[in-house]
Amino acid sequence: MRVRLRNPDRDVEVAGPLTVADLLDHLDVLPHTVLVLHDGALVTAAHELPADAEVEIRPVISGGAEGAPRCVVCRAPAVLEERRHRAAWCTAHLEDHIHNQIRRAIDHPPGLPHSERMCSYADRLLIAVSGGKDSLALWAALVDMGYRVDGLYVGLGIGGYSQRSQQVCERFAAERGLRLHVVDLAETYGYTTPGGASAAGRSTCGVCGLSKRYAFNRVAVEHGYDVVVTGHNLDDEAATLLGNVLRWQDTFLARQHPVLPATGTNQVRKIKPLYRLSERETAAYCVIRGIDYVVEECPLVDGNTGHELKAAFDLLEHASPGLKAQFLFGFYERQQRLVDRSVEEQVEVGECTGCGMPTTGRLCAFCRQRELILAVLPMTAGATGPAAGPVPTARR
Ligand code: AMP
Ligand code: ZN
Ligand code: ZN
Repeated sequence: MRVRLRNPDRDVEVAGPLTVADLLDHLDVLPHTVLVLHDGALVTAAHELPADAEVEIRPVISGGAEGAPRCVVCRAPAVLEERRHRAAWCTAHLEDHIHNQIRRAIDHPPGLPHSERMCSYADRLLIAVSGGKDSLALWAALVDMGYRVDGLYVGLGIGGYSQRSQQVCERFAAERGLRLHVVDLAETYGYTTPGGASAAGRSTCGVCGLSKRYAFNRVAVEHGYDVVVTGHNLDDEAATLLGNVLRWQDTFLARQHPVLPATGTNQVRKIKPLYRLSERETAAYCVIRGIDYVVEECPLVDGNTGHELKAAFDLLEHASPGLKAQFLFGFYERQQRLVDRSVEEQVEVGECTGCGMPTTGRLCAFCRQRELILAVLPMTAGATGPAAGPVPTARR
């Protein structure tokens, strides 16, 4: 069906038939903020729209043009507007909106059977926190929602930036009486991100990403956590997807999902409960909750193509609010049909001979990278490296 959205005007094609309620849900439009017209006549939520319907969705909540925007729930003056949702919220209802989106992500992950959740209240969660807005907002929200969740900060050795980030995470945890694990790359594995990158002749973002992913899983396994949580948001995931599509990275497309199940021993499930929320929304949440976070960006990010993709996508989103969400959520809905998982299913996962963590080869990618780095770098004192030994059995 063809759907005309107004303010700004744009047309989108949506597969039907669908009820009005399902269409609005699909487009992430809050029902009480719009009127829906089918062939020019008003229709209500249960109305069934045929596959060839001509639909118009007209906003009814007046915004900036007629004075200060008001909360879509209680009509109090709003503190944040989101064109993507065609909505604005007061402080209290913005907090509800953020929690609702996280709730929905956890309870109904895209493309999975309805009964499958990202995590349960019985699970022990380990959230990887960088000191930035997303992961700290998510930690606060999950604690409020009643989940059992501890934090993990990985010290990457990026000078003052890493020190400030660690302090922010430690203060956040201390003020709330939460448990934070800290793993320092240099102390534990013998290299910093910038040092490792130049020793290995690899990009800093590449060395950083592999080291972080390894540390998240390893700490979770060693301490008996059930799930690793990261703060990747809608902007991150949409930009990653765009990059994977532009380069036709088949295996990445097969693996990109807000829930990655544990596929073997010594591997923990990974979830991204913020995939439905933009970074603007998580930043606003930090402000209204009084969460102090590191506003500065990583100084090594220059030339990272992820950032260029984000900037390009922002231009498109500005012209067509909601495009990012449509692109990302639409992909998840179609993923089973679109990507060929057979490549992945055939590989056999065994144990790394260096560290015991899962790998498809003899040595895992992390141990291979570390070998390469330590062959060049002098070993830092004390970094005898647990990566050289097998993982101790999990304790609870
Ligand atoms: P980034 O790769 O910087 O976009 O971060 C994505 C997610 O990875 C964050 O939301 C955190 O959950 C996690 N993360 C990034 N850096 C760190 C770090 N130094 N320590 C722990 N977790 C991190
Ligand atoms: Zn309100
Ligand atoms: Zn290994």
